[in-house]
Amino acid sequence: MTENMSCQEIKQKVHEYLANELSPEQLEFITEHIANCDTCDAEYGLEDAINRKIEEYCNVVPPESLLDGIKNRIRQIQVGEEH
Ligand SMILES: [Zn+2]
Repeated sequence: MTENMSCQEIKQKVHEYLANELSPEQLEFITEHIANCDTCDAEYGLEDAINRKIEEYCNVVPPESLLDGIKNRIRQIQVGEEH
């Protein structure tokens, strides 16, 4: 049974996770584990913390730069059509 080991691993890594020091793959691994593990969810109350972290994580990527890129693209297309 590797589940116990995983839970301990998760518990340790969550501290790094909450400090934003893990790679996206590790975040995915932890999130997936917690989603499937009642022990981690109940014992450490991690799901809530993780969910909040994911929201934060999404906010870190500024949608404005993406929006600017799209706007520029549209402008280019419009300019191309006008001339
Ligand atoms: Zn677990």
